Amino acid sequence: MDSGNNTIRDWLTRAVAALEANASVLNELDRQVGDADHGTNLLRGFRAAQDALVDDDSPAENVKHLGMALVTHVGGASGPLYGTFFLRAGQIWQSQLTTDSLARACRLGLDGVMARGKAAIGDATMVDALAPAVESLELSAATGTDVAEASALAAKASDEGAKATVDMVARRGRASYLGERSIGHLDPGAVSSALLFSTLLVPQG
Ligand code: ADP
Ligand code: MG
Repeated sequence: MDSGNNTIRDWLTRAVAALEANASVLNELDRQVGDADHGTNLLRGFRAAQDALVDDDSPAENVKHLGMALVTHVGGASGPLYGTFFLRAGQIWQSQLTTDSLARACRLGLDGVMARGKAAIGDATMVDALAPAVESLELSAATGTDVAEASALAAKASDEGAKATVDMVARRGRASYLGERSIGHLDPGAVSSALLFSTLLVPQG
């Protein structure tokens, strides 16, 4: 029986595949506003996370292992932030994934990212893709939407949030050094967050 660990392992497999396919795109976005390593950083971290999972531990413990692996192995500013997301989410992770439990865990994760990185919505960071996804999950939980549909809606909201960073002035991280010149560029961390939300869903067909 799947205790929930298979769900996490399967999701990580999809996340690593998506990062492999998009690492050069993420590096290129980061080249435009930073130091061209975001895709490489995340791929290294998420691969390390695959090795950090422990089947005999609970799913909640494994979400924390994932977070710790990202803190340790991603390397860039995004590592501690993504790591914090999963370390926090792991504090209340439920073995049985429901829309409500996913929404609550992601909200706690987002709160952790915002507390640690001090980025607000509109600062052109990963927060601009994470926050719409969490809000979408919460709306889905309130309206009784099943987890598959809720994941699809969250992925769409996250993608729209990431795209909106093109018009924003970056106020956190390396991109903030560009000031107004960051306008016209997508934030790499927002794009990677949307990519990761898109992998929540198992591809159909
Ligand atoms: P680095 O900037 O150290 O090279 P990465 O390239 O891996 O790290 O990650 C850059 C991404 O991290 C940015 O695109 C942004 O989304 C995110 N980021 C950086 N600083 C912050 C912050 N203070 N709050 C939220 N997100 C941030
Ligand atoms: Mg970088």
